[in-house]
Amino acid sequence: MTGTIPAERYADRLARAQAVAAERKVGAMLIGVGTDLHWLIGYDAMPLERLTMLVVPPTGRATLVVPRLERSAALAATGVGAAIVDLVTWEETDDPVDLVAHQDGVEAASQRGEPMLISDWLGSRFLLRIQRRLPSASYDVASSVLSDLRAIKDADEIALLRAAAHAADRVVASIAGGRLVGRTEADVANEVRERLLTEGHDEATFGIVASGPNSASPHHDATDRVITAGEPIVLDIGGRIEGYGSDITRTLWVTGGDASHGPDDTYRELFAILQRAQAEATEAATAGTAAEIVDEVARAIITDGGYGPQFIHRTGHGIGLDGHEDPYLVLGNRAPLVVGNAFSVEPGIYLEGRYGARIEDIVVCAESGPDTLNQAPHELAIVGGG
Ligand code: ZN
Ligand code: ZN
Ligand code: ZN
Repeated sequence: MTGTIPAERYADRLARAQAVAAERKVGAMLIGVGTDLHWLIGYDAMPLERLTMLVVPPTGRATLVVPRLERSAALAATGVGAAIVDLVTWEETDDPVDLVAHQDGVEAASQRGEPMLISDWLGSRFLLRIQRRLPSASYDVASSVLSDLRAIKDADEIALLRAAAHAADRVVASIAGGRLVGRTEADVANEVRERLLTEGHDEATFGIVASGPNSASPHHDATDRVITAGEPIVLDIGGRIEGYGSDITRTLWVTGGDASHGPDDTYRELFAILQRAQAEATEAATAGTAAEIVDEVARAIITDGGYGPQFIHRTGHGIGLDGHEDPYLVLGNRAPLVVGNAFSVEPGIYLEGRYGARIEDIVVCAESGPDTLNQAPHELAIVGGG
């Protein structure tokens, strides 16, 4: 599928990856189907039992090895169609691993014991065959080269993340303004998925609808539980546009139109602490700041408010072609944020068996400071839902 990202950008990514690989004396990067392949050449290939593999030597041209029947699908990808890589096909009776080994310098490099960098999500069905075919090579994950490169988003990528974020914002607004009381979580989750698509996503990835006590479980799967008046709903939803993800969480309180079913004092107080933690953590996410500091800022506010033990996950994760990728905003990650990083800021407070709350935005670390892509209001949305 051709998208908005031009072929020159893919050529540039490939060249930068090769430069790092050359500097580190890498034998070759062997990239199977997945987001690394998508990022490098724009090929969002279907995962199959047949091997598709981009062979990237540290210098010279890269070669995409594909099953014969995938040739036209591969040519439709921006980087392949623009011939920034060579294309080699294999027939049903060929050994594709042998074909990979015969690409430029791969076998020689492996005999010198040089590292083969394997894309992180490649299945063992392929990896084990490669290791048997190239036994003298050493092996490492391709993310050791690609992750830092992928974590810095260019303007086209940020535009896609922003479009996805705005589409998700509109879905949150329509769900918050619609009927909720008397419906099951699963029914609302189906509506979320439909709306993610109608608002412009190519794909609806997830729709967490966690009502009442379920809101205390961060990754709750929507169930047949019926939503009633006088309880919160944590709505955490996302989809993809050209592979780039949205991921937003907003918390609603459903009254059924009856003011006596509003949030209790504990919940209001808890939510105020959470909102401040989320806002201040976002403000802290400037270039040069260690990723763990953003987590520390949120955690300090929530801990001071008395809910430290109830904030049971890291503050955020990077986002791009993978829904969760570097940089992770977690204690121990001392790597400084850099301009172009995109990540979630999503503290939560969870009182098990009772209720919980979370607020999540996608934020880009920009030259001018943190740029929050989501525009939906952060306040507790007290809605009728009737
Ligand atoms: Zn999550
Ligand atoms: Zn989320
Ligand atoms: Zn998230």
